[in-house]
Amino acid sequence: MEIPSKYRKAMLEHAAEDHPNEVCGMLGVLDGKVMAHYRISNAHPSPYRYEMDAKEHFMTLREVEDAGWEPAFYHSHSHSPAAPSDTDIRLATYPTNFYLIVSPCEFDGNSQKISDNAQVRSFLIDDGQVTEEPVVITAHPLVRYIKGFFIRSKRVGVL
Ligand SMILES: [Zn+2]
Repeated sequence: MEIPSKYRKAMLEHAAEDHPNEVCGMLGVLDGKVMAHYRISNAHPSPYRYEMDAKEHFMTLREVEDAGWEPAFYHSHSHSPAAPSDTDIRLATYPTNFYLIVSPCEFDGNSQKISDNAQVRSFLIDDGQVTEEPVVITAHPLVRYIKGFFIRSKRVGVL
């Protein structure tokens, strides 16, 4: 799955804001690439679980599907690494959609700082079977252009 860096950042910032409670949301995906990010309220704010607000879940799903995208779902872990918990596996209801788990913080229980080790991982969960899907973070085209310019400039000795 390809995630533009701005959406990775958006998920991690969302998770850090509500840390230590878990946060959740949805992504719109087209041909394996994330096109949009939506926050969804956690109906039961807690450091150990999440439940997407049913109305927001429904409205967002409709928006994603109207745009011609596939939904993917994300939530945060504040006390464990970004891997599906037993509960996540048991409650997964979309066997062909990606479940992303983000883990923005060190596990010291109170930090809201996004750590250098922040994780974003993606999984398919089908009837108890968990398959991790590789995540590729892509930079904004302008960032790529600027980086390319500096690399070229260095090569020809401008800088
Ligand atoms: Zn979880």
